[in-house]
Amino acid sequence: MRKKIVAGNWKMHKNAEQTEDLLNELIAKIPTDTNAQVVVAPTFVNLASAVDHLEFTNIDVAAQNMHEAESGAFTGEISADMLQSVGVNTVILGHSERRAIFNETDALIASKVNTALEHDMTVIFCFGEELKDRHSKNHFNIVENQLKDGLFSIEASDWKNIVLAYEPVWAIGTGETASPEQAQEMHEFIRETVRKAFGSDIAEDVSILYGGSVKPENAKEIFSKPDVDGGLIGGAALKADDFVAIVNAI
Ligand code: PGA
Repeated sequence: MRKKIVAGNWKMHKNAEQTEDLLNELIAKIPTDTNAQVVVAPTFVNLASAVDHLEFTNIDVAAQNMHEAESGAFTGEISADMLQSVGVNTVILGHSERRAIFNETDALIASKVNTALEHDMTVIFCFGEELKDRHSKNHFNIVENQLKDGLFSIEASDWKNIVLAYEPVWAIGTGETASPEQAQEMHEFIRETVRKAFGSDIAEDVSILYGGSVKPENAKEIFSKPDVDGGLIGGAALKADDFVAIVNAI
């Protein structure tokens, strides 16, 4: 049975004190017997303290990005080894903000994925079409190419470390959510694309999260779809009550 996952991408929000406050609220409010694997992704500078803080809880910590190289003269960057040295073994890669604002290409993301997998890290691989792609009815092609170019050079045995996060760019931070039917249609297509390339076992086991304006009001309906295995949450992950309500919607 594939995992149900709710992950909070905190983006560039929450300083040290605010991080601790939000984590304390989450620890107090997320049921210890939740069906979801819960993940939070604070900023780099707060990862080490978050790992310490969450040590005896059922909440995991992820990084929002990392560099593809092992080490070197890359001012301002963070390596896989550095993340693991503070206890972080999960990384979000390919987020649309990294693609759009920081010019990350499928090839670069593929290289980051490979580095993360060499370190036996779990990758939350984000991808999704822009509004113009949906208007031109090109969205399935775009999504398929992002998957193939960014991810499909991995080995079959690496899939146990992959979580997919379909995030239509037009739904991120816009308040506009894909309808549960639109999400299901794309998730089914994604699973089928994985099936064609890697077979049924891998396709059935991989968790596919939906991301883009998930909130307490719409989470239950989106999560009820058969190919939606949870969510990657941005804005609503910054308020404990909203995030906990989304976790409880699984
Ligand atoms: P949002 O962000 O929930 O604020 O739309 C989702 C994401 O960027 O992962």
